[in-house]
Amino acid sequence: MIVVASRNGNVGIRQAMAVLKAGGSALDAIEEGIHHVESNPADHSVGYSGLPNLLGEVELDASIMDGRRLASGAVGSVRGYEHPISIARKVMEELPHCFLVGTGAERFAAEMEFPKKDLLTPEARRIWLDTLNRNALGGVYRERTDYLDKIREWVKKSADPEKYTGTTNFIAMDARGDIACGVSTSGWAWKYPGRLGDSPVIGAGNYADNRYGAAACTGRGEMAVNAGTARSVILYMKMGMSLEEAGLEAMKDLWAVQDPYAGSMNIVALDRFGEPAAFSNQKTALYVYMTEDMDEPVEKARTYVPMTRQEWEKERSERAEGSERTAG
Ligand code: ASP
Repeated sequence: MIVVASRNGNVGIRQAMAVLKAGGSALDAIEEGIHHVESNPADHSVGYSGLPNLLGEVELDASIMDGRRLASGAVGSVRGYEHPISIARKVMEELPHCFLVGTGAERFAAEMEFPKKDLLTPEARRIWLDTLNRNALGGVYRERTDYLDKIREWVKKSADPEKYTGTTNFIAMDARGDIACGVSTSGWAWKYPGRLGDSPVIGAGNYADNRYGAAACTGRGEMAVNAGTARSVILYMKMGMSLEEAGLEAMKDLWAVQDPYAGSMNIVALDRFGEPAAFSNQKTALYVYMTEDMDEPVEKARTYVPMTRQEWEKERSERAEGSERTAG
């Protein structure tokens, strides 16, 4: 049994493992783990206290995938519900659909009797407003003339993932060897209202298939959407690659995505043997995992894969020079 998560999953990974140890399913475990991140007021990238969109509304996205039967559920741009991961699970379990957005998703959440909650905390509102004011973008919706330019400029400014974006990824393998994967986020802060990233998009930010493994992403969602990143990792494993090779290949695919707003991209993954791995184009990025025989989760460095082929080649030649020097 194992639970693998993005680093912000540290607040819920022990509880997710406890679910597995008590005989719960991989789906139960990731839902439990993600709840803790969604409720964490210190995390401004997921659930309660997430940073809002350009209009000051917290819009949440989430998806869940059951690797036993290639079933999924997802919700996008949901307002007023703390646990979008649970709404996504209900979509998967109760509806003949796999993806609901906006008012339809909110209507369904009400029908499923999820409690409503105001998600915008004073702290998140302060960060939202200060930053808008600092960048003179507060009047975006009043000055229609340069409105789109301002949004583009803003997306560029907010491309620092450590500051303004974030998402949580959870993957679990239970005692039966079943694999499930969940992703939850408040998306890109100051986003255009209604914008969806990769997190609720199956194949982009989330994929699980018992036969091969699972993968989930954080970072600039538009890139993972355009490259089909999570599904790529699984497909590369199906084609015979190891998890390390598959993750590397999926990261390299991002080199072809010509995105003027390119930011960070990160993957956490698990293979069908229960081995974890993670990848990032940020040198110091970490992920976390916990197996049933650990008392505490461990944080590990992700495999670093530069953002461009040029940087990759430069890195490799510097490394080769370094090892020649050592050998000499
Ligand atoms: N991937 C998320 C999105 O694009 C944001 C993030 O992980 O930073 O909405």
